[in-house]
Parts: sequence; C-alpha cells; structure tokens
Amino acid sequence: MLSNRLKHNTKSIFNLNSTQKRAKKEIEDKVEFGSYPFENVSCQVCNSIKSRILSEKDRYGLHYTVRVCENCGLVYTSPRMVQDAYNNFYALEYRRLYSGREVPNLDNLKINEARGEKIYSYLEQFIKIKNRPVKVLEIGCSAGGILSYFKNAGCETLGVDLDANYIGYGREKLGLNLVEGTLRDVPSDFTPDIIIYSHVLEHILDIKAELLKLKSVCTKNTLLYIEVPGIKNIHASYNFNFLHYLQNAHTFHFSLTTLRNLMYKNDFKIIKGDEFIRSVFVKREEPESKEYFQNDFKEIGSYLENTERAWNKKQFSFSVIKRKFYLFIKNILVKIRCRLLKWKHQSLP
Ligand SMILES: [Zn+2]
Repeated sequence: MLSNRLKHNTKSIFNLNSTQKRAKKEIEDKVEFGSYPFENVSCQVCNSIKSRILSEKDRYGLHYTVRVCENCGLVYTSPRMVQDAYNNFYALEYRRLYSGREVPNLDNLKINEARGEKIYSYLEQFIKIKNRPVKVLEIGCSAGGILSYFKNAGCETLGVDLDANYIGYGREKLGLNLVEGTLRDVPSDFTPDIIIYSHVLEHILDIKAELLKLKSVCTKNTLLYIEVPGIKNIHASYNFNFLHYLQNAHTFHFSLTTLRNLMYKNDFKIIKGDEFIRSVFVKREEPESKEYFQNDFKEIGSYLENTERAWNKKQFSFSVIKRKFYLFIKNILVKIRCRLLKWKHQSLP
C-alpha cells in the first residue's frame, strides 16, 4: 500500500450529489449481496500473480484493489467485478456516479471535438502522406465529438459505441455514421486506415480477446491510436493526487512501457508515444523478441511513491496556511472585542 489514505474506507474525495450518492449505495449493496461478483486475475502481460497492492479504494470510496505486477510492472485491478457485473454497472450506475446526472450529458461534445483536433494533429504526419480521404474508425465513440473533427477535416468516419442514446444524438445532430455495438459490429467492408481507442482500453476486461479481434481488422498499414490516462502523468493530469486518478471503471493503469509490453505481446509494435498517454501502434510482422520487454516495476513504484509524498506535502502546506489564516482572523476578532469593551467602559457615566 502506498499510504494509509489508500486503505479501504467508504470516504469519497468529492462531495457527491444525491444522484451520485444513490448510485454509489446501489453499487455497494450489489457488491455486498453478491449480485456484482468479483474475480481474481493474473497479470495480462506476463501471467504472473506476484504483485503488490497499491490501493484498496477508488476516488468515490468504493472498494477497489489495484496492484502492480512485480515481474513486469503492469498495474491492474484484481479482484475485479466480472464482465456481467460491469455490463450492468455501465447500464445502470456508471453515468450517474461519474457525471452526477440521470440523463446523458452532452455538454462533453465540444470537449471531445477539441480532443479530436489534438488527436488529428498527433496523427497529421501519417494522414498527409495519403492522397485520398483517410478512413477513420473509433471504438467507444460516445456521441462522436472526436470523429466530428476528423469528418470536417475530410476523413471518412465510422464510430461504434454501446450507448444507444449517444449514438442517436451523434447521428441526428452531427450527421455521423455511427453503429451501436463494439469492434465486432464493424461492417466488414469498412477497412480503416486509422483506429482510435480514446479512453477505452483501460475499461476492457478481456484485453487479449479485444487485441486478437483488432489484429484481424487491421492491415499492415493500419494505424492504431491509443489514448489512456497515464499512470506516470498523475502529477500533471491529477495534480499529484493518485486517489483522484483511481476510478472503479478502470481495470488497467498503464505507463507507456507497460502499454508497449502488452501490445507487443499481442502482436503490435509502437511507432510513437508519450506518458500522457498518446500512442500509435501498427501490427507487428516480425517474431517476438524477449529482449523487447522491459520491467517497469521499480520505476512505477518510485514514481508513485514520489507523487504520493508530493501530494501529502501539498496537503500539509495547505493545512498550515489554513491554520495561519484561522489564527489571523481570530486575532482580529479578539482585537475588535477588546476595543468594544474599552469603548463600552469609557462610555459608562
Ligand atoms: Zn506482469
């Protein structure tokens, strides 16, 4: 365990609204009474079960065990809810807990369009060399904000998502070609040049099956863009707060090295990437080489320890400032009271 604040208790780091409180209680009850069963899994890169626990809770105060593989450094959730439980969780509680709303939140559309622009810039060097409209497929596209940017830039786009509400909105309002479903529901006549997984891969349970299917959809020239919240970018994306980063919907927590290891193991090799994480992969044609794998266990451990230390230091400084402010105000109030008493005393006949 990285620190005491990561031991399991039901405390959320946010002030939850009533919708979120209801959703959280429903999840806790289903876990307690067994309708959301859990399973233990081994490391999906090296199959080892030798691991260390990093945290026992997530940012909402849900019971959530995150561990790091000592053999390769992959950080993963285990035990975790089984697939059926996750399916029900996404259908019934996920949106309410994470957004605090009962209905789909389409305010994110503009944010996703801006993300689309960033992804387009990241891939522009590959897009420009094609002398025809590039075919772009996005898995888990929501209402299609990212694809909308690509479409406006002249690409031929197709998106798939499990949420019928978002799909309907994207079709109707943005005129996008969207299909309800997963990678398995992509029409076989659509051969993508680029496949986008933006904040999707870390939610998938059977990652090996997903990558196997993906391999059959990709040609040797298909670019696979993967964006996930990087576990070595918590200082920048989550203001040093590891607990803010932890959310029960995530089953994997990648550094660029561990993502690269996983992809290589499943026949993809990296073209470019950073710790944000934004990355591009293509299908690996050459045979697997053992020298390619890098154990990230020590680096991830020391990054997280330093981040947690920095967070605690920040909290300590904040509490010192709060205490100084409290004493300052108290001092002023005491002075005012003394003046009032003095004035009252002088006014007496
Ligand atoms: Zn491992």
